[in-house]
Amino acid sequence: MSPSIRSSWVEGSSSPGGDFPLQNLPLGVVAAEGRGRRVGVRIGDFVVDVRTLAECGLLERLERRIIDSLAGESLAPFMALGKSAWRAARAEFTRLLSADCGELRDHPKRGDIVLPEWGLSVQLPCEIGDYTDFYASLHHATNVGSMFRPNQPLLPNWKHLPIGYHGRSSSIVPSGTAVVRPCGQTVASDDGPPSFGPTKLLDYEVEVGALIGRGNALGSPIAVASALDHVFGLVLLNDWSARDVQKWEYQPLGPFLAKNFASTLSGWVVSLDALEPFRIPLPARADGDPQPLPYLRGEGDVLFDIQLELLVASAAMRERKMPACRVSLGNYRDMYWSVAQMVAHHTSGGCNLRTGDLLASGTVSGSDPLSRGCLLERTWRGTQPITLSDGSERKFLQDGDEVILRAWCERPGAARIGFGECRGIVLPART
Ligand code: CA
Repeated sequence: MSPSIRSSWVEGSSSPGGDFPLQNLPLGVVAAEGRGRRVGVRIGDFVVDVRTLAECGLLERLERRIIDSLAGESLAPFMALGKSAWRAARAEFTRLLSADCGELRDHPKRGDIVLPEWGLSVQLPCEIGDYTDFYASLHHATNVGSMFRPNQPLLPNWKHLPIGYHGRSSSIVPSGTAVVRPCGQTVASDDGPPSFGPTKLLDYEVEVGALIGRGNALGSPIAVASALDHVFGLVLLNDWSARDVQKWEYQPLGPFLAKNFASTLSGWVVSLDALEPFRIPLPARADGDPQPLPYLRGEGDVLFDIQLELLVASAAMRERKMPACRVSLGNYRDMYWSVAQMVAHHTSGGCNLRTGDLLASGTVSGSDPLSRGCLLERTWRGTQPITLSDGSERKFLQDGDEVILRAWCERPGAARIGFGECRGIVLPART
């Protein structure tokens, strides 16, 4: 790391390639033996137990309402306070963890406050409220559209509004949770008749989710210009999908059981302030593309340069201690619609967003084949299988496969900001 970049006294937190330097400090909720659930700040391979930190009197520079909001088993009370509270807490965590600050480093109870990450289990950061899944990558929408509607891959509305659907939040699970292969109705030919059984075409979707911090009142839309003030941070999401179930059920009202059996969320919420060095303007619309309507334009309409890597490890690979195999590498900067536009569009009719709501991007895909963020695209409906390092072929996921989504931001002169992992193993169907 360059000497001009500030570092922490936490051992190993500045090592190259690490996800969690002093400049990141994502928040999450962890469960620890004997302590229950705690709000934590991740740094390097350690987690600061915020409640214990406060109990030791080390957060006294913060307002009482901020300290209290961080003392429970969920991040939601803190998320609801809004940006000035988020910034005040972030500044204080940064100060306490900086190399030149001894208050926590030299504290007699430091071992009770700063816990090794490997002894903790990552939970959902808060109860997920309403979950909306968008379809905001042009490459993804065009690829998938061209498979199902070769003559009209993009429907006439696509470039005018961020398409989305209301998803299911009860089945959102934290990273590390195994996912059971779902059963459902599928058809051998386009018109049926259907049969019921385990999906044969289980897929993942590489997505980035925005967690809503402060919401809006019913009937009070959020403008693009202030939309990001409502976003507490970004997380990774694997939107598991059963393609054969989806194909039969999605018309006329969109995905249903093909998507509602599980979605996996990463545990550490990366703040937009940590992502600031990686923010990029939304590119100008290409020649021939319509300009967004005025309510979908405004300052703050930005993307982030986030590399998204998807890896798969089969059961045989894990048994033989082989590393997981990279299946795709994409970038969130390839999105057509931004988070701010999603928030503005979602609320434009008066819909209220609430603390803990999740707005997911939809599958992130780019122009080159390696960047395609699901197996449906990556293997082009199974016509171009990929080979894993154990020699086995994949068109779609098999039982025992572990799917690992990772993400990070890198550029010269800035500390690397990572998201950690979003992982899950596929278990056989319960028939
Ligand atoms: Ca999706």
